[in-house]
Amino acid sequence: MTIRSSNLGFPRIGRRRELKKAVEAYWRGEVSAEALKDTGRELRRRHWALQAEAGIDIIPSNDFSFYDQMLDMSVALGAVPERFGWQPGTIGLDTYFDMARGHGDVPALEMTKWFDTNYHYLVPELREGQTFSLASTHIIDAYEEASEAGYRTRPVIIGPVTWLMLGKCKSGEIDPLDLLGRVLPVYRDILGRLAKAGADWVQIDEPVLVTDLSDAQKAAVGEAYAGLTGAGPNLLLTTYFGALGDNLDLVADLPVEGLHVDLVRAPHQLDAVLAAWPQDRTLSLGVIDGRNIWRTDLSAAFARVETAIAARGGGDIEIAPSCSLLHVPVDLEQEDRLDDALKAWLAFAKQKLEEVVTLAQAAQSGRASRSAAFDASDAAQASRRASPRIHDPAVADRLAASADTDARRASPYERRSLEQRARLNLPVYPTTTIGSFPQTQPVREARAANGKGDMNDADYDAFLKAATEDAIRRQEALGLDMLVHGEFERNDMVEYFGEQLDGFAFTRFGWVQSYGSRCVKPPVIFGDVSRPAPMTVEWTAYAQSLTGKPVKGMLTGPVTILQWSFVRDDQPRSQTCRQIAYAIRDEVVDLEKAGVGAIQIDEPALREGLPLRRADWAGYLDWAGTCFRIAASGVSDATQIHTHMCYSEFNDIMPSIAGLDADVISIEASRSDMELLEAFAEFSYPNEIGPGIWDIHSPRVPGEAELERLLVKAADVIPADRIWVNPDCGLKTRGWPEVEASLKGMVAVAGRLRQAAE
Ligand code: GLN
Ligand code: ZN
Repeated sequence: MTIRSSNLGFPRIGRRRELKKAVEAYWRGEVSAEALKDTGRELRRRHWALQAEAGIDIIPSNDFSFYDQMLDMSVALGAVPERFGWQPGTIGLDTYFDMARGHGDVPALEMTKWFDTNYHYLVPELREGQTFSLASTHIIDAYEEASEAGYRTRPVIIGPVTWLMLGKCKSGEIDPLDLLGRVLPVYRDILGRLAKAGADWVQIDEPVLVTDLSDAQKAAVGEAYAGLTGAGPNLLLTTYFGALGDNLDLVADLPVEGLHVDLVRAPHQLDAVLAAWPQDRTLSLGVIDGRNIWRTDLSAAFARVETAIAARGGGDIEIAPSCSLLHVPVDLEQEDRLDDALKAWLAFAKQKLEEVVTLAQAAQSGRASRSAAFDASDAAQASRRASPRIHDPAVADRLAASADTDARRASPYERRSLEQRARLNLPVYPTTTIGSFPQTQPVREARAANGKGDMNDADYDAFLKAATEDAIRRQEALGLDMLVHGEFERNDMVEYFGEQLDGFAFTRFGWVQSYGSRCVKPPVIFGDVSRPAPMTVEWTAYAQSLTGKPVKGMLTGPVTILQWSFVRDDQPRSQTCRQIAYAIRDEVVDLEKAGVGAIQIDEPALREGLPLRRADWAGYLDWAGTCFRIAASGVSDATQIHTHMCYSEFNDIMPSIAGLDADVISIEASRSDMELLEAFAEFSYPNEIGPGIWDIHSPRVPGEAELERLLVKAADVIPADRIWVNPDCGLKTRGWPEVEASLKGMVAVAGRLRQAAE
């Protein structure tokens, strides 16, 4: 048996986001296509060298992309929708970026989340009768480019079942998998060419194998791999983000030479995998977390590796990250915003590869040769476990003392609503917005200047106050009923809170790709979370002091804060979420004390936290809902709690949304033409709803007729005394002229329906 170290994919953005900068410069016409391609080549070469230097035996190629690996696969297969005007042949960079970003009136491919990550891929667009052909040789080119540079690599491709299942059929009533027989010849062509170029293995990613599959889908998996055997190189069937579970037997029967399993997300599947996977074939053990930034407990990971070695006969073993390292930042070394103690607990992509190599070397030479790296890892784990920075007894005591009643309002909605109506005195069809107003150039410049020290705190504060007052006056002039302060002081809806909470840390270069050239820098939740001081009370109270209209307080909810951070891995996520929930609860209570009558707790990420397997949904929804209610339930009946959701479809979790028991929910609805309301009606949602009637995702100002049509549609299913009128989401990405024009229309339309109702 041979034991090797391997990697499944390296982040392509570059340690200083070089790729982002180059791609955006190309879009702006500042650099040529050749210059952009040079940057790509330079990054690939740098990353291959880095992996080779780390001692990785099996280095991937084709893990690079100028935008997205799913788009790259679509391009390789010639799956270009007609509207992009592509003539069969090869696909150039401009068609490629048109598909990613749209062009003039031609809309881009749809984009959505990659499994349960915060990475977004471009959805393959499929149609009945579609034909496929090899339209780009980038996969083979990347392999050859690496060979020429002296690296023998293992190319990575998205498997046909995952590619099709993540696709959407836009015309014709077919299941994407009906097209399997048509894509397989192109896959065989790609594999054959790779073999000819010298590749002996290919990593073929099929993450759908950790999700629930129907019998037809399972049959398609069998058909796909029967169709690919003998096409060329050996195949490493690569699964990640969860356990194979009930798909394991199917997988074990496939005619592929190797299997990669995720033993970080699903450590418990090891025994079942060892029992099912044939002894003479390669098994790749994903024991280093590719999704999170914590330094690996090498001793614990090694124990898993030893179990595998002991159970295996002749087949080779690979030691690998759990999934591609795309989901973690590039290099911890360059961080200067984190202190050394905290850095010692972390590992980014480069450091994770070193861990892979350490484990592989120890596995090759036996336990006796445990290197100093193991001692350092043990010491880091011990220091983390014992650190007073992580464990706050006050937080532990508070959670231990928490009662079920903490997650319940004092009275049911019917009672609360009477008190709230008396207090807020709003008309029917009340109008409001979702929180943020335009983050204009001056707002962003002032924040940057204050950050750099070029604008002192007093001047910055005065600037923000002026911006807030301006927003209040504009809202009053528009005639909105419930106002907001505008969120000018906030950089980001999670970072703003994380920076004021204990237990959070922030990196300087910890970027990960979100989509295309967009990167995010998630906060690191390393310790027990608490709120040392009020976070938003001053701004909300200031805004309220300027107007007689009610001003709505504005907070990010515990589930969203959790979902958009790197979360500590030494306790269940549910427990970390609960700690955040209590911190937000403190803020809600303080807002109430300051006289704020309505408080919105945003949870746009509630749905995206859903586990990949249906069977796990109920457990998640239960604790996530409880956390929201802990945050919301410290106030009296007369204080109105709002929540807001967007980005996704909510139909399938309606009972859980109702279970949050927010007095008012504002929710994205206009893009789907209010489709979602059917679910609210069917379920007869008990509290108040503001279905967004203005899609704020484009600069277009909707006409009044359009706004009215959507509102009337909503009023058909929501009783007049429980409907709110608002946009789909916050307005920070918009400009004031569109905002004022659109809100003017919105207020006018609400007024007309109000008159008709009275
Ligand atoms: N209150 C936030 C805003 O208006 C909500 C953002 C969101 O839902 N993503 O910007
Ligand atoms: Zn939103």
